[in-house]
Amino acid sequence: MALIVHKYGGTSVGSVERIKNVARRLEKWHRAGHQLVVVVSAMSGETNRLISLAKEVQSSPDARELDVVASTGEQVTVALLAMALIERGLKAKSYTGPQVHVLTDSAFNKARILRIDEKRIRADLNGGTIVVVAGFQGADEHGNITTLGRGGSDTSAVALAAALAADECLIYTDVDGVYTTDPRIVPEARRLHRITFEEMLEMASLGSKVLQLRSVEFAGKYKVPLRVLSSMTDAGIPLDEEATSGTLITFEENIQMEKAVISGVAFTRDEAKITLTRVPDRPGIAYQILGPIADANLDVDMIVQNISVDGTTDFSFTVHRNEYEKALGVLESKVMNHIGAKEIVGDPKIAKVSIVGIGMRSHVGIASLMFKTLAEEGINMQMISTSEIKISVVVEDKYLELAVRALHKAFGLEQVSA
Ligand code: ADP
Ligand code: ASP
Ligand code: MG
Repeated sequence: MALIVHKYGGTSVGSVERIKNVARRLEKWHRAGHQLVVVVSAMSGETNRLISLAKEVQSSPDARELDVVASTGEQVTVALLAMALIERGLKAKSYTGPQVHVLTDSAFNKARILRIDEKRIRADLNGGTIVVVAGFQGADEHGNITTLGRGGSDTSAVALAAALAADECLIYTDVDGVYTTDPRIVPEARRLHRITFEEMLEMASLGSKVLQLRSVEFAGKYKVPLRVLSSMTDAGIPLDEEATSGTLITFEENIQMEKAVISGVAFTRDEAKITLTRVPDRPGIAYQILGPIADANLDVDMIVQNISVDGTTDFSFTVHRNEYEKALGVLESKVMNHIGAKEIVGDPKIAKVSIVGIGMRSHVGIASLMFKTLAEEGINMQMISTSEIKISVVVEDKYLELAVRALHKAFGLEQVSA
């Protein structure tokens, strides 16, 4: 008997029929003797609907109240799933995040889980009950409802698995695993049987939304065995087959044989670029520009400073697109009048494309193949950043899909056709 956490995303619980299918699948696992904690998301589209409702009332919604609204989608699906299980003759109970003491900090809309008191869940499990927990939510020390950022149910599941020392955390979704890139953009993308934690961390942080970044961080930190698999298969498939399907996120690094030097291509449209032109090139200038940005709690991703001509230079950096306006405001009010730059040029129409792979450590020529591929497509790289196992470039938004497809092909990531 094992204790297993299952997580079902929005599409997987997107209709009553799908919820019933999840219940059939859970029954199979339960009858095989496993203890089950099930984390669910809101029905697909529901969280977006709730957030737009809030925005109709208040253009920039109060952060605390927004979490009260946004967290309600999950309260519906947990109860419906518990009912579907009870209907099948199983013992099941639904809980909201706060009811099972998911304690978070008070950063509304992007709270971090601090602790989970798992006693109540354990008591239910010991009594043979399937415990269904609302993902994406918790409460801070004052009892305020918080949410964990978009895609946060993944993190709820992994955090519960860590708190319960579960044997495995299975993330059921609408694709059958982690692919070499988003299969919606590149239909030739190939499913990876395994991917290392390190690579998955990079893929998630560079935009692959199949797992929320924090869920991967949590799983790595607490050594939670993690697998991504499909909820769209027939619920009746043999359990052994299901349990080994999908993609395993592994600590082993020795999986090179299975794949090319690069494991995947990630991308995001979530960033915006800001350039200050003709900045006087003197010591301390980067600090004078980015200090106030950091003080305003805004994260900077890439930074590029050109060589100086006539003692001045252009200085560019990227921020999250949601924080773009705020960053421009900070520069105008706190930076421009001190440093004597010519002007601020903002560009939200950018995209970042990255290649990721631990194979980069032992192979040369990866960057040059990436740059050659983009050059052949006539795509200009506006910014470049590298780390040991990834290379990211910023390109004009309209070239995103072309860049992803070209790189995916150039690095031999496509499916081998049968
Ligand atoms: P859920 O609602 O189950 O949490 P998400 O929409 O959050 O599902 O994540 C699954 C989606 O992630 C897939 O439908 C796919 O389009 C997208 N995705 C992006 N990058 C990848 C990738 N590398 N591998 C698989 N799916 C990816
Ligand atoms: N329902 C939330 C969202 O749409 C959380 C999740 O799906 O993981 O972001
Ligand atoms: Mg998700």
